[in-house]
Amino acid sequence: KQKIAVMTSGGDSPGMNAAVRAVVRTGIYYGCDMYAVYEGYKGLLEGGDLLKPISWKDVRGFLSEGGTLIGTARCMEFKERWGRKQAAKNLIERGINALVVCGGDGSLTGADLFRHEWPSLVKELVEQDQSFTPEQVEPYKNLTIVGLVGSIDNDMSGTDSTIGAYSALERIVEMVDYIDATAKSHSRAFVVEVMGRHCGWLALMAGIATGADYIFIPERPPKKDQWQAELKEVCQRHREKGRRNNTVIVAEGAIDDELNPITSEDVKKVLVEIGLDTRVTILGHVQRGGTAVAHDRWLATLQGVDAVKAVLENTPSTPSPLIGINENKIIRMPLVESVKLTKSVAENIENKHFDKAIALRDSEFID
Ligand code: ADP
Repeated sequence: KQKIAVMTSGGDSPGMNAAVRAVVRTGIYYGCDMYAVYEGYKGLLEGGDLLKPISWKDVRGFLSEGGTLIGTARCMEFKERWGRKQAAKNLIERGINALVVCGGDGSLTGADLFRHEWPSLVKELVEQDQSFTPEQVEPYKNLTIVGLVGSIDNDMSGTDSTIGAYSALERIVEMVDYIDATAKSHSRAFVVEVMGRHCGWLALMAGIATGADYIFIPERPPKKDQWQAELKEVCQRHREKGRRNNTVIVAEGAIDDELNPITSEDVKKVLVEIGLDTRVTILGHVQRGGTAVAHDRWLATLQGVDAVKAVLENTPSTPSPLIGINENKIIRMPLVESVKLTKSVAENIENKHFDKAIALRDSEFID
């Protein structure tokens, strides 16, 4: 009987619970024994109460809960070989040799490394540590890893959206609407800083959805000494057309073409120079909070179902799959390749149809 463990790791994102629920219930539907790893890789290392069976009813109500109810953590020990060996021991003791990981690129890189190392870890556990006999480890020669991307940043290459991105976007848009209302009342300018790490997807989409005057994203760095004048010109022009407020969205990873960070305070200074009463709002963790929007619940559920199918169809020679979505179809792609492509910003832009969105940003829609 197949035993599958499911875990969430790295930064939390809305929809992770829906993914866990779908994995657990699909596994049970297919006759598997399901386990939950609590607190990310920390739970794999510590075992005990952090790595235990999870039942159908344990995930009841998960669809409408934000964050991740089985917990997440950063775990430095999992980056060490001894830590991963401890994790392997805990899994074999429970008879688990398949792991569904919902997390960002760091978590998924760690998971794939774990899979590649697995045969040698098992060998060491038998020969050096004598934790198991060769007969005991016979059914656990390989580890199956399946990845789900849980991230508000939408920063994974090859998939149109990650679990949590649309929820964060929705929250940002709601907040910017609130800010716009007060900004218009006082004829103010607001600089709004949004999350996204090195990816500008949240900033760009939120800017388009709220009709922001100007958007700073890391994928299209403006010229170091030119953006100030351009920003002033754009905001003034919009004022002349009758706009009573200005909104500038700054991605947290915004940079200029010489890779210097562009901060919300830098942007504010420029707006103050043209006499605008300017405030800065850094949205922060509210962007991660709250329940998942319908898109993320739907995405997490379909992908969770496919993750279990991928486990059951996996062979030792297939590369670890990552479950993605492409033009509304749930797809599988090799995990390592997607992570590698993600490191290349250019690819990421292409895969996310950034060009179209950027063209929209640069066109004359705002007044
Ligand atoms: P995210 O998954 O959101 O990108 P992190 O990069 O912080 O978040 O990764 C989460 C956890 O995944 C880390 O705390 C660590 O336990 C594990 N991890 C990340 N990168 C690696 C790696 N290269 N090797 C092994 N484990 C890793």
